[in-house]
Amino acid sequence: MTDKTSLQDLQQSDDFIRRHLGPRENEIQEMLSELGLSSLDDLVEKAVPHKIQVKEPIGVEASRSERETLDYLQSLADENIVAKSYIGMGYYDTVTPAVIQRNVLENPAWYTAYTPYQPEIAQGRLEAILNFQQMTMDLTGMELASASLLDEATAAAEAMGLAKRSSKNKKCNTFFVDEKTFPQTIDVVKTRAEHYGWDLVIGPIEEAADHDVFGALLSYTNVQGDITDLENIIQKLHDKKAIACVAADIMSLVLLKSPGEMGADVVFGSAQRFGVPMGFGGPHAAFFATRESFKRSLPGRIIGVSKDTRGNNAMRMAMQTREQHIRREKATSNICTAQVLLANIASFYAVYHGKKGLTTIANRINRYASIVASAVVNSGMEVVNDHWFDTVTFRASDVEAIQDRAKEALVNLHYDGDFISFSIDEAKSQADIEQLIEVITGAESDVFELDSEATSSIPEQLVRESDFLTHPTFNDYYSETDMLRYIKRLETKDFSLVHGMIPLGSCTMKLNATSEMMPVTWPKFACIHPFAPEDQTYGYLKMIKELEADLVEITGYDFVSMQPNSGAQGEYAGLIAIKKYHESQGEGHRNICLIPSSAHGTNPASAQMAGMKVVITKCDENGNVDVDDLKAKAEEMKDNLAALMVTYPSTHGVYEEEIKDICDIIHENGGQVYMDGANMNAQVGISRPGDIGSDVSHLNLHKTFAIPHGGGGPGMGPIGVKSHLAPFVSGHSVRKVHSVEARDNAVSAAPYGSGMILPISWAYIKMLGQVGLRRSTEVALLNANYLKNKLSAHYPVLYVGRNDKVAHECIIDLRDIKNETGISEVDFAKRLMDYGFHAPTMSFPVAGTFMIEPTESESKYELDRFVDAMIRIRQEVEKVASGEWDKDNNPLVNAPHTQADLRDWDKPYSISEAVYPSEATILSKFWPTTNRIDDVFGDRNLMCSCPATETYAE
Ligand SMILES: *Cc1c(COP(=O)(O)O)cnc(C)c1O
Repeated sequence: MTDKTSLQDLQQSDDFIRRHLGPRENEIQEMLSELGLSSLDDLVEKAVPHKIQVKEPIGVEASRSERETLDYLQSLADENIVAKSYIGMGYYDTVTPAVIQRNVLENPAWYTAYTPYQPEIAQGRLEAILNFQQMTMDLTGMELASASLLDEATAAAEAMGLAKRSSKNKKCNTFFVDEKTFPQTIDVVKTRAEHYGWDLVIGPIEEAADHDVFGALLSYTNVQGDITDLENIIQKLHDKKAIACVAADIMSLVLLKSPGEMGADVVFGSAQRFGVPMGFGGPHAAFFATRESFKRSLPGRIIGVSKDTRGNNAMRMAMQTREQHIRREKATSNICTAQVLLANIASFYAVYHGKKGLTTIANRINRYASIVASAVVNSGMEVVNDHWFDTVTFRASDVEAIQDRAKEALVNLHYDGDFISFSIDEAKSQADIEQLIEVITGAESDVFELDSEATSSIPEQLVRESDFLTHPTFNDYYSETDMLRYIKRLETKDFSLVHGMIPLGSCTMKLNATSEMMPVTWPKFACIHPFAPEDQTYGYLKMIKELEADLVEITGYDFVSMQPNSGAQGEYAGLIAIKKYHESQGEGHRNICLIPSSAHGTNPASAQMAGMKVVITKCDENGNVDVDDLKAKAEEMKDNLAALMVTYPSTHGVYEEEIKDICDIIHENGGQVYMDGANMNAQVGISRPGDIGSDVSHLNLHKTFAIPHGGGGPGMGPIGVKSHLAPFVSGHSVRKVHSVEARDNAVSAAPYGSGMILPISWAYIKMLGQVGLRRSTEVALLNANYLKNKLSAHYPVLYVGRNDKVAHECIIDLRDIKNETGISEVDFAKRLMDYGFHAPTMSFPVAGTFMIEPTESESKYELDRFVDAMIRIRQEVEKVASGEWDKDNNPLVNAPHTQADLRDWDKPYSISEAVYPSEATILSKFWPTTNRIDDVFGDRNLMCSCPATETYAE
């Protein structure tokens, strides 16, 4: 034995903490000494107000190795039981094509990208989303589709909102809901209507137009599986100036006449069964389609085709400045993070199968449903629905006997009193169908015989006749080789964390560790229905409880609600809890929400959706909340003050000293404090919102807690609340949420939001543990302050806090440069692409600035590479200022440069200056695939469907 290393050290060889952090120990010391600091503790002492620092380490366990973590997670997964699911109700087993699972769902190049704010380096996912829009338009028969919403239930609520805005029946305040809509959809619509102050009538679909309504939600295929011809109902609604919103099953539309052909104004539903696993409720993309004339009212993002400077087609987010929440309190929807990754998977699924493959799948589903229906009838039971696509409901002669056989066979059905329903999906085989028949009837049957007896289950007038998926994209990639190359071709156009830093302030683009991601596609997490019996989901429930307990420790709140599917949904759920609390205190009149002017747009958007009146308070010249103004407004409005929404550290990246006083002022005047938790990456392990005095926060698990952004979603926005708000968090009427008494206030379709991605945050916390979580925050502060220090020699840093320190992000001011030289923040953003970077957050919270957030995961090498690029760009600006470079024809205003530029180089500067401007780009070059894209052209000529293939960029 010559090795003197202690056994303990040998056992710690796979320490995850060091793998999560960018800088090495010695680099941390170097960076600290450059900042004149002795240690990370010293940094915290100097940067973070003492009043808010935790006195004790947070009560989270010690870190576990990656292997230990995965072993334990596997043991939890093993407590979930994968049954044959026939529950339906919006969630279906599906077969994710392996080429898509491995190359998209499990591929960091797809899942670590951000929302395509910089379209020149995002053409791949923009094309995939455009395909999603085209697929939606084809199947729904509508003119315009959005790039995804959070789930079917929130899509329904958004449809109601669009109906209210668009209906010419202006005075009317009532919305109709088909009573046979999925119950979870009705619940979310109820919540939304209550807080908008609208009335709902829930009744039989035929009576939709008998009421005075501004719109109606009609289920084309309903919870029992029946199919309704909507043409007359829609006509009658239109006669009354009401908007017809149709909930549709995406797979059924392959065989059914499109709702657009029946006159629908909005068509929405879930794209889950196009290749996205059930995952205990999500994440899944909802589709949403409407008329061209309602384009300004469309919730969420929309991808449009425009031109780049070479005149080639290029895609980008259309009407980007009108992304709804940016309109703040005038916004019509608060949606920000959506479901891009899942929309991409659904669109690739459609590309993979094409019209022919989808038709085969849909026909098989339908035939199997009919076969089982025949067996049910033959056994003497009554089938309730006259027509069906995949779901059949029957009156059971002996519910208990069926239930017993089902349990024995691990078959999940949907039970409703004497009625039982089953939904068939593409994952079911002939053997499954035989088993299902035996479970239901107690006897074996010959499926071929039953098939020959079965009658058509789709009404003749509702058989689809219009074509769909005719675009070459859905027909060109036939073999797996071609499919793989198509996926890769798109992938390589996009800049993601696999290429370099994405220093988007407020977005926290940190490492999404592979070990954290692995469990997502384990079948025992992926293949669980959100309404599966409790005893099949113990693994999930245990994991979720542990995650909740850790988040309670981290935030200092008493209770965590896991339901909201994004930060903005968390805001909405939190404000509702505040509102309900006030009501419970006999103070239901409190309706004013104070919001500092620097707040993220989702804050005022959520407040108005919660039925609150937004009052903006001032910020001082340092960007801080103007406490005097806040105090004056809080006192003036104290009789009606409901809440303050405040981001901490503030949106401009500074720890405000007065935050505790601010909370006190609000409480003294009868209000509650909502602390936007998007910046928790500057607090974890160091301070806790609950201790500071806040009552509720959302946590963006897709920012601070390592869920990847997926190119613009998924996300999770659970809320932490103090105990007095706990009775008012989101419940669920189909499946009781553990420890939540209420069954109302639902904000998502699934009881625990997107269960499938919760293991990511769970693993993140377990692998970092008490020490690693705090260390991550410290290094996030160090990296930000290091960047601030380096950049401040070349750019003015807009705001700093105590001891000249920033929190986890810093803002540099580019406005003087623009005034003096004409080089704008946009030129900077595009030029950074030539240097191999994704730009920081642009013009938020201050126009004409960059907000830079490096996160703890970026190495010193990467930070230095960024600083080097920014310094060189500053020198380039000087060349423009001095006249050495033409002010209208220089590498900055022409950026980004593409390979196509090289073919006909005609610039007054060299190729090398353009595309190899730094050492780093010579070592490794990322090529933007399009030249700068014209936003104005795109918005003037809105085109949101796939252009003919020949017209794509060369
Ligand atoms: C990201 C963010 C939000 C919204 O979160 P989503 O998950 O995108 O809905 C809200 N506030 C701040 C400060 C944010 O940075």
